[in-house]
Amino acid sequence: MHAMVLNQPRTPLEWVELPDPVAGPGQVTVKVTACGVCRTDLHVVDGELTHPKLPIVPGHEIVGRIEQVGAGVDTLHPGMRVGIPWLGHTCGVCLYCRSGRENLCDDPLFTGYTRDGGFATHALADAAYAFPLKEIEGEAGDDVALAPLLCAGLIGWRSLVMAGEAQAIGLYGFGAAAHIIAQVARWQGRRVYAFTQRGDAKGQSFAVSLGAAWAGGSDEMPPELLDAAIIYAPVGALVPQALKCVKKGGRVVCAGIHMSPIPAFSYDLLWEERQLVSVANLTRQDGLDFLALAPRVGIRTRTTAYPLQKANQALEDLRAGRFEGAAVLVP
Ligand SMILES: [Zn+2]
Ligand SMILES: [Zn+2]
Repeated sequence: MHAMVLNQPRTPLEWVELPDPVAGPGQVTVKVTACGVCRTDLHVVDGELTHPKLPIVPGHEIVGRIEQVGAGVDTLHPGMRVGIPWLGHTCGVCLYCRSGRENLCDDPLFTGYTRDGGFATHALADAAYAFPLKEIEGEAGDDVALAPLLCAGLIGWRSLVMAGEAQAIGLYGFGAAAHIIAQVARWQGRRVYAFTQRGDAKGQSFAVSLGAAWAGGSDEMPPELLDAAIIYAPVGALVPQALKCVKKGGRVVCAGIHMSPIPAFSYDLLWEERQLVSVANLTRQDGLDFLALAPRVGIRTRTTAYPLQKANQALEDLRAGRFEGAAVLVP
């Protein structure tokens, strides 16, 4: 197999040949057909997420076809299309695993961070953490279009659930996650307000094209106060800004795994029972819920495909905001 490998943080990925993976008990191997590029991959490459397995194959929005199934795997079969997400393994015995919060497991493995991911021609996964994608567009649908659902969609979904019953909802950072979640929120009948970098007219018109009632700069006030806001951009300064825009009792959800420091702010912004929470990882139930919902919503992802060997270019383009929606690598 071949893969784009990170040997050390803050260095470019390198194209290497590796031994073909072998499915052990409870595992599957897949031939990767598409792998999305997530901002978290940038945080790994940039060393903002510490202690990755090194060398590491990044990538945790994997769509592929099963090649081998290991002993004891009876729900997945060779040829099936599956999606492999960020949560790659949990211990099953810690306090969190035993209370339906495996996203907070004390001893997890994360795809593309602490175990090898999908910037590769092949990948190895725990069968219990690979989602069959049969319900979505059958087995023949577009693998590139599906890839962003595996993280931008799944963790976006968890953050939307965390936003509660909010009718007026703000999305800060209109990238891969927000462009999916805006469609879900609209389908649910919510009013969506999109916040982009100041002056990003292209991003703002993209948001309006997906049903946002209003789109503006992240330093602007929306036309009505919000019930909740979700912050997808890794920018701590957006926290006080979003708190300013939510009503009494409103909630601000930080959906990213990494954020620049949050500047000090006046307690007035949190007073009146406003809440500030974060979302970490996903549970398998989040994945099942979202992947069952996706075809009903009719989510259309906007993707820019790159050959696998152009992974460094895709990461640079994501960093620079050179595309709308999501980048996807194709082996
Ligand atoms: Zn656990
Ligand atoms: Zn991700």
